[in-house]
Amino acid sequence: MLNILHTIKEVRSQIKEWKNEGFTIGLVPTMGYLHEGHQSLIKRAVEENDKVVVSIFVNPMQFAPTEDLESYPRDLKKDSKLCDETGADLIFNPDPEEMYTKGFCSFVDMNGPTDELCGKSRPIHFRGVCTIVNKLFNIVTPDKAYFGQKDAQQLAVIKRMVTDLNIPIEIVGCPIIREKDGLAKSSRNTYLNKKEREAALILSKTIFMAEKLVNDGLTDADKLKDIMKKNIETEPLAKIDYVEAVNFDDISVTDTISDNTLVAIAVYIGKTRLIDNFLIKRK
Ligand code: AMP
Repeated sequence: MLNILHTIKEVRSQIKEWKNEGFTIGLVPTMGYLHEGHQSLIKRAVEENDKVVVSIFVNPMQFAPTEDLESYPRDLKKDSKLCDETGADLIFNPDPEEMYTKGFCSFVDMNGPTDELCGKSRPIHFRGVCTIVNKLFNIVTPDKAYFGQKDAQQLAVIKRMVTDLNIPIEIVGCPIIREKDGLAKSSRNTYLNKKEREAALILSKTIFMAEKLVNDGLTDADKLKDIMKKNIETEPLAKIDYVEAVNFDDISVTDTISDNTLVAIAVYIGKTRLIDNFLIKRK
């Protein structure tokens, strides 16, 4: 039976009970408005753990003042249904005041893997992500935590953080779930009107095209990025934030496409910023 808790105290008490009974715990951190992408993470967590906690928290710290914190979609009722149907045991849905008490001034930050890609256009974003994920790890103390490759840089950053700070949690990366037509599922897709929704297909089309070029033998990153940019520019509603090829481990820019290269893009469709990527895995 799914339980929904809003305070850290209640969650800690539930976790203590489960640990006393010897249960393993999986955590799926989310910002809610759940879709099949989130659901795939929850499913995997249910398969691999005795108890599964889904956190639903739109974290103010990872949004710049110009970003969409206020308008970010929220629907706890629908989210609860999805969590229940998928077999999660607990939703942790705190208020911002519960997570950031008066006088809050401690942060977890990183140099390097956060410098490129989304870190460039969203300079405070990963400090907010690292801080909230640490807090969730400390509250839930899971055995495993699940993150999507949709946010590939976030996955790399969390893996690095766990290694660097000796956090005893296994980080599990999960593949990108897409709409039937290819668009990567995202809570932000709801911002798109009909015309923008069509235009947004330029992201996945460009990713699939690039993946094919790489599979056919293209290794020059500049050439690949150039072709990708030109393709995105054929869509009048699209404005490129970045098109980049990086090493997936440390998110450093690479000039050669090889094993473990992450090819990632961020594109504005109207006012909505969307991301997509593919990872080259040859081994
Ligand atoms: P969010 O609620 O957007 O912060 O996402 C919560 C988690 O779900 C993150 O680890 C995301 O990478 C993952 N996620 C979001 N969309 C997808 C998707 N389309 N496929 C796989 N994972 C996803």
